[in-house]
Amino acid sequence: MCTPPSSSWTIKKIFKLRNLVQPWIKSVVGNGLETFLWLDNWHPLGPLFSRYGERVVFNLGRSLSSKVASIINNDSWNWPRRRNAVTKEIIENTPTALVPHSGQSDSVIWLLNGQGFSIKSAWDKIREVRPVVAWWKVVWFKAHIPRWAIIQWLAVLGRLATKDRLQKWGVVPNDVCVLCDAATESHLHLFFLCPYSSYIVGQLLRICGYRRGLIRLDHEIGWASQHMTGNGLQQSLYKMVLAASLYHIWLERNNRVFQGFPRDALALMSVVKLDIRSCLSLWRRVKRSSKNQRLCALWNISQAVFSTV
Ligand SMILES: [Zn+2]
Repeated sequence: MCTPPSSSWTIKKIFKLRNLVQPWIKSVVGNGLETFLWLDNWHPLGPLFSRYGERVVFNLGRSLSSKVASIINNDSWNWPRRRNAVTKEIIENTPTALVPHSGQSDSVIWLLNGQGFSIKSAWDKIREVRPVVAWWKVVWFKAHIPRWAIIQWLAVLGRLATKDRLQKWGVVPNDVCVLCDAATESHLHLFFLCPYSSYIVGQLLRICGYRRGLIRLDHEIGWASQHMTGNGLQQSLYKMVLAASLYHIWLERNNRVFQGFPRDALALMSVVKLDIRSCLSLWRRVKRSSKNQRLCALWNISQAVFSTV
């Protein structure tokens, strides 16, 4: 089956995955009217076209779109009289228990759970399972914002298209950081050894009550994995500062690379603060304590977050 040329990139990618999941999609033959003879996974040998190619269609004198019903007669298999090696192999591997039932429609079952298809069971089957990392809760914490978390996740894994990587691939002519114009742009530098980004995240962490010297994302993530495990206001604010700073610094970097309208560190810090404040202003039922009230005052967050309604 070919993917239509006008299909979107997403559809083409999904079509490419079909061979991965097809072995777990089983067609159960009833009257054979809805099951493709060569393409569907109804026979114990699997999809017959995948196993034997075009010759099986030619040998049995059917078309590629033939249904299983074309080899059924009165609830019995109606195999062709002229039989070559391929036909004989198919017949020999057809169990006696596999018989058509004219009174039943064909059906499809998902073999992984014997029930209906589920994305979770398919994903669990095809994905590579790796050990759970200790830092996942720092990125995907309870109050995480998806657009921040995705960029942060990629940054922690070192998967963003930083200039040091792009230059190795021959995509950009130089690897100079566009934020400070004084060092190689790498994940380590951008987050947050660069003086531009270091100033922003350092100032915001200070408002949360954390004073830092040199700020490195890997160190902060490691520290937070052990010390920022709760979902209280202070812990959440710390994680939001890390994620939102990283997100906006990456946007600013892209903005400078592609559009060339730079903002200074103070301006970008205001943007990060505003974004965090907007998210926090929607919170309710925050524990009313002197520490939390002080934090709300420092971040100019409404007292409404303490309401119980
Ligand atoms: Zn820099």
